[in-house]
Amino acid sequence: MYSASFEYHRAASVDEAVKLLAQYGDGAKLIAGGHSLLPVMKLRFALPAHLIDIRRVPELAGIREENGALYIGAATTHAAVAASSLIHARVPMLAEAAGRIGDAQVRNMGTIGGSLAHADPAADLPAVMLALGTMLRAVNRRGARTIPIDEFFTGMFTSAIAPEEVLVEVRVPFPPPQTGAAYAKYADPASGYAVVGVAAMVTLGAGRTVERARVAMTGLAPFAARLTGVEEALTGTMATAEQIEAAAQRATEALDAGADGDAGYKANLATVYARRALTRAVERAK
Ligand SMILES: Cc1cc2nc3c(=O)[nH]c(=O)nc-3n(C[C@H](O)[C@H](O)[C@H](O)COP(=O)(O)OP(=O)(O)OC[C@H]3O[C@@H](n4cnc5c(N)ncnc54)[C@H](O)[C@@H]3O)c2cc1C
Repeated sequence: MYSASFEYHRAASVDEAVKLLAQYGDGAKLIAGGHSLLPVMKLRFALPAHLIDIRRVPELAGIREENGALYIGAATTHAAVAASSLIHARVPMLAEAAGRIGDAQVRNMGTIGGSLAHADPAADLPAVMLALGTMLRAVNRRGARTIPIDEFFTGMFTSAIAPEEVLVEVRVPFPPPQTGAAYAKYADPASGYAVVGVAAMVTLGAGRTVERARVAMTGLAPFAARLTGVEEALTGTMATAEQIEAAAQRATEALDAGADGDAGYKANLATVYARRALTRAVERAK
């Protein structure tokens, strides 16, 4: 099916994109890679009268390191994230997860900002960003604001980005020493989307006990969220195989009890992928 017709605008700057959003109001939508928005438009679930293309805005491009953090422009493609030597060196989990999104075409078009703003419940990057403790910078006509990732995903396909805002940059703090992180995903064989994906970041402290754990899951709930029960259960332990297994069991607390489908199968997926992510993260922290 074809989308309804629309007027196309190419923004040259974030400022221009923000002005166009304000000018066209509810009838306007940003487009970056188009790999989530265009399918929705073709199904006529979205009928924007104005599309504002931000893919070539220079302020939204690039990956840099500054003051103990990585800064990734919102229009950076998944392929660029997966190929970045800086990201591989500093936060390898992010490069690995980006490299497993969809197929080569999806990775060449889809962007980090588009993925986060779209907040698809089966997308990979939301869980990874939650585990990494990132901060997101958004700009609107009144100025800029920073949104902690823990406050970003608010519902199915719903994020804290307001309709008149542009997500500009993702700030990923460098993990502290003795930290390991891993993303374990069971991909839908057709699309590559996560049936389940668990991202874990584990920091070891004195005596090699777990000082801090951030763990998040995508795929099995209306939106990606931290697995706080898993984090609590692992923190303070030596992260032995038994302790990891006990912590992983608590991933089921995040499942939507009223959802359709096989509850036992989902509980098993959540536990198995939490265990895999935790085990790999702990190995990498040692
Ligand atoms: C066949 C297929 C397979 C896929 N497989 C996977 C997968 O395995 N894992 C996965 O995670 N994803 C997958 N995706 C989704 C893909 O990663 C999308 O590209 C991504 O989710 C959206 O990025 P985009 O740049 O294409 O966004 P767009 O489609 O351009 O935009 C999506 C939404 O975000 C808004 N938006 C975009 N950029 C910004 C911004 N900077 N500020 C504010 N709002 C913004 C748009 O207005 C729109 O509402 C798949 C997609 C397809 C088509």
